[in-house]
Amino acid sequence: MAHFVPANLPDRIRHYIDGAFVDSVDGETFGVLDPVSNETYVQAAAGTQADIDLAVAAAKRAFDDGPWPRMKNRERARILNRIADQVEARDAELAELETFDTGLPITQALGQAQRAAENFRFFADLIVAGRDDTYQVPGAQVNYVHRKPVGVAGLITPWNTPFMLESWKLAPALASGCTVVLKPAEFTPLSASLWAGIFEEAGLPQGVFNLVNGLGETAGDALVKHPDVRLVSFTGETTTGQTIFANAAPQLKGLSMELGGKSPAIVFADADLDAAIDSTLFGVFSLNGERCTAGSRILVERSVYDDFVERYAARAKNIVVGDPHDPKTEVGALVHPEHYAKVMSYVELGKSEGRLVAGGGRPAGLDAGNYVAPTVFADVPSDARIFQEEIFGPVVCITPFDTEAEALELANAVKYGLAAYLWTSDLTRAHTFAHGIEAGMVWLNSHNVRDLRTPFGGVKASGLGHEGGYRSLDFYTEQQAVHISLAPVHTPKFGATPLVE
Ligand code: NAD
Repeated sequence: MAHFVPANLPDRIRHYIDGAFVDSVDGETFGVLDPVSNETYVQAAAGTQADIDLAVAAAKRAFDDGPWPRMKNRERARILNRIADQVEARDAELAELETFDTGLPITQALGQAQRAAENFRFFADLIVAGRDDTYQVPGAQVNYVHRKPVGVAGLITPWNTPFMLESWKLAPALASGCTVVLKPAEFTPLSASLWAGIFEEAGLPQGVFNLVNGLGETAGDALVKHPDVRLVSFTGETTTGQTIFANAAPQLKGLSMELGGKSPAIVFADADLDAAIDSTLFGVFSLNGERCTAGSRILVERSVYDDFVERYAARAKNIVVGDPHDPKTEVGALVHPEHYAKVMSYVELGKSEGRLVAGGGRPAGLDAGNYVAPTVFADVPSDARIFQEEIFGPVVCITPFDTEAEALELANAVKYGLAAYLWTSDLTRAHTFAHGIEAGMVWLNSHNVRDLRTPFGGVKASGLGHEGGYRSLDFYTEQQAVHISLAPVHTPKFGATPLVE
């Protein structure tokens, strides 16, 4: 198969610290693979403690002495809007790099640049229109909230949709007036370097944005433990989140955690089945299934179960798997051979845990690259590992249910609680069932379509805190309460009465 390679690949990927691209202090690098050939296409600087120290020092200087935290919101918003313009202008370039580095289909990578731009516009709007609380106690007190940026934020991101997920953290952190050190995922460091040029052209002051590439256990770990990093916003696996939580505990850092998922899609017999099939296929097979909110467990009411499984499997077999750069491709190549091996091990396991009705291995005709045929297992019991564990690939379980109570029990029978998708035409059931689901986000008769104002986040093992909307600004800012007395305050007079001997 012809293999598309972008024309403008860098000859190496470096850190960006205090306004300059630099190599690691010790000169170390790591190889980055592209998921179609699995060959090393570039070396990236491998950051360690020394590089993190330099980046955090630059961010701290920019925070303590620079203009960014002190700028009027309108001024910051102008720069955020210019950043959005830059991101949009590089839409095609970005999508090509992202597709090449991650293996995501080009048509799905294109939307991500636009979404990243929207994030900057959204937070620009929010800080300009924002207001804070005052509390009146007539004749006695006025209390008001003085909001200020927390300081240096450490941002640690995963490899699925890297650029867009970086924007989820960069936009609110910068809008709040924080300065940042970004540690992108080591599987996909290519697009993160673009931020430096975008920010420079938009006029972001020097030192506000810093980027250190490298492995999680070295560069990421040093960032989490650095005493001058006051906040860590992390998106990634639940187990990594637990490690970061423990490492941040001694310094009591602010933590925002967007973690794994195993989200249910519940299809009742009264649903519009055509729409439910379209949506649940897209919900798990878009973004190669490497999607935290993937609806990877489909629960279907028994009376329509056989029909649903048959139609679903037929469609899954028809999904176009292939070169991520081909606009016809619906599922591309998984990000890395290690991840491919993990997904394939679940595909094999599934053959003994459920009934294979589509896929089940490498698609015919694609002998190299990390390709997995969209794989569907039916009749999967809730204690199966493929039902319980996040696979993060194009693999889905389907399980029948008889009653609403059973459906709710199955929906909640995993440790995760990120998203849920509910298909029914019964209005009352839609709401009561949604309220009973242990998930941070529920979509009724829809896949994941999110207005940027709404909170994004999970419960249980899927996360702590929320990204999105004003909640992100709450995370990156301190809310200092200032209390003003309008009248003499009653004060007990300690020590005013002479002691009687
Ligand atoms: P990962 O946890 O392996 O890595 C995420 C980031 O953490 C990477 O940058 C990595 O280098 C870094 N890291 C690893 N160990 C570290 C350590 N000890 N200290 C500091 N940093 C460390 O996750 P991944 O495989 O890159 O991403 C896939 C996971 O992300 C899936 O579980 C998926 O569900 C989750 N995810 C969640 C959301 C969400 O919003 N809830 C969104 C996207 C992805």
